[in-house]
Amino acid sequence: MSSIFTKIVNGEIPCYKIYEDEKTMAFLDINPETPGHTLVIPKVEVDKIYELSDEDYTALMNTVKKLSVHMEKVLGARTLWKVIGTDVPHAHVHLLPFDKTWHQDRHVELTEDEFKEIQKKLEIK
Ligand code: 5GP
Repeated sequence: MSSIFTKIVNGEIPCYKIYEDEKTMAFLDINPETPGHTLVIPKVEVDKIYELSDEDYTALMNTVKKLSVHMEKVLGARTLWKVIGTDVPHAHVHLLPFDKTWHQDRHVELTEDEFKEIQKKLEIK
């Protein structure tokens, strides 16, 4: 059975997409810790990041870097990079924009309109 993220890649589940290329995709986390909380995934489905081929790993991290630079430019924010992977068995990096200082245990409730507004601000076409 496909992971929930593969279903997003295949368009079977909707998402607020930020970026896509041949090997990677990025979309807003549905349960964000900060506004702009983004998940960057490889299109190939593996559980752990270190199971990726060198080529797919490099593609994933290049997208993480590209989006961090973009978020800093667009939001004026730094980004925290986080790998957890306890909930969804499809490799992914969390990108969390934040101002000045990082605090643990963050959470924000966003309306659909707010998700769309952030998506519009962050998306790279
Ligand atoms: P982790 O596996 O790194 O512990 O957490 C998985 C992350 O994926 C969580 O932050 C969760 O909110 C997010 N997530 C789970 N299901 C979906 C989904 O269907 N769509 C989106 N956009 N994010 C999801």
